[in-house]
Amino acid sequence: MADTDIKTEDRTVRLQVAAARQEESGQGIARLSRASLSEIGALEGDVLEITGKAVTVARAVLAFEEDEGLSVIRLDGLQRGNAEVGSGDHVTVRKTDSRPAQRVVFAPAQKDMRLQGPSAALKRNFFQRPMVQGDLVATTGQQQVADIPPQLRRMFNAPAYALTQIRLNVVSTTPRGIVHIDENTEVELRETFEEAHDARGDVNYDDVGGMTDTIRQLREMVELPLRYPELFTRLGVAPPKGVLLHGPPGTGKTRLAQAVANESEAQFFSINGPEIMGSGYGESEKHLREVFEEATKAAPAIVFIDEIDSIAPKRDQVHGEAEKRLVAQLLTLMDGIDSRAHVVVIAATNRPDAIDEALRRPGRFDREIVIGVPDEKGRREILGIHTRGMPLSERVDLNELARTTHGFVGADLAALTREAAIEAVRRIMPKLDLEARTIPAEVLETIRVYREDFVEALKR
Ligand code: ADP
Repeated sequence: MADTDIKTEDRTVRLQVAAARQEESGQGIARLSRASLSEIGALEGDVLEITGKAVTVARAVLAFEEDEGLSVIRLDGLQRGNAEVGSGDHVTVRKTDSRPAQRVVFAPAQKDMRLQGPSAALKRNFFQRPMVQGDLVATTGQQQVADIPPQLRRMFNAPAYALTQIRLNVVSTTPRGIVHIDENTEVELRETFEEAHDARGDVNYDDVGGMTDTIRQLREMVELPLRYPELFTRLGVAPPKGVLLHGPPGTGKTRLAQAVANESEAQFFSINGPEIMGSGYGESEKHLREVFEEATKAAPAIVFIDEIDSIAPKRDQVHGEAEKRLVAQLLTLMDGIDSRAHVVVIAATNRPDAIDEALRRPGRFDREIVIGVPDEKGRREILGIHTRGMPLSERVDLNELARTTHGFVGADLAALTREAAIEAVRRIMPKLDLEARTIPAEVLETIRVYREDFVEALKR
């Protein structure tokens, strides 16, 4: 197609990808230095074409001071997925422009999310935001048409709205190419999930709070070997086959494993310890074998074993024959993974002392990462993640909340923000027409989550 009205610059710059700050995730912006911008003749606010293994677009924003002088572009998890790159990779960046779209079709990018609602809200949200077909994008706050937590679903007895950031897949645009939504664009929202080309819309590093260091370690142990196997072969170092995460329940071990898989562009297979133990005679081993087989076929892949202590307890604590055989099977499977198979097993437990020592021998789970209860800074990050897209009243002070929630793990903080949102919806209930099963736009506009809603939620 002749892009006569699109002015794409010839000048390009090669930049190294780094992660965006978590609180800026989903805004569709890319931060780069003043020098990089001037190299390509761009100004803040211009549309950038960013090319990795795939092409995406973002709006240019000036780098934070500490990045000035670096040849770095900061992209969030969705954008890294859109460009099919990881942090540390290089992308080519140039200035471009977008055309108004006649039509844009969105679908939810998160698996268990169902959406319904007026496209007007979406239109407002993405007004003037550059995008291309195939991109994953996120709403930025304010009132979203969204998935509802089960509690709310019961209250409304129908799909309604939640107050959360939602991620969407740009299924198609007319015309193709780089477009933006303007007042004349027709926006369609499909109700159910459609497989995106990249799974980072589901969970990525931006969604795991208080784990900067852990993420760095896991990137080195798992993501880099899966992403650049040649490099490790060349260096003659064998990447780890197994990593053991230990920490209390609800600290984000599962979510972290999923994020690592998605960011590594690896398939994710999950085994639940207690569940597998419950299967019939011989079934458990068979199931284990099948998962490992499938993972090997689908490689690069990550096999996640939750509550591994229930599969492989210390031998002196094992009584039944069935248990013994299962431990043996797991050990055989671990030993059977070829170091070039690009399969990594991540296991989680909250009782590291309760697992069979044989599992921790070299070549098995020989790396361990402790996932602790988050400190104040971690809690602040987690609260930030779970209130992304929530219309918070100005008096909600997340720093204060982080201070006063000592001992809360990620799951507790997620529940807290969900409860606060439900409080806010309860407040507007009298204004709702429950028969109509929808929230009128003018009510939706005014909804805010107040400080008091969090106070109420804390009481539960
Ligand atoms: P675990 O596997 O350690 O028991 P999960 O990963 O299943 O914990 O966490 C349950 C839920 O709690 C997650 O889906 C997420 O909503 C929230 N959560 C837990 N830890 C974190 C975290 N560090 N950052 C963001 N959310 C978290």
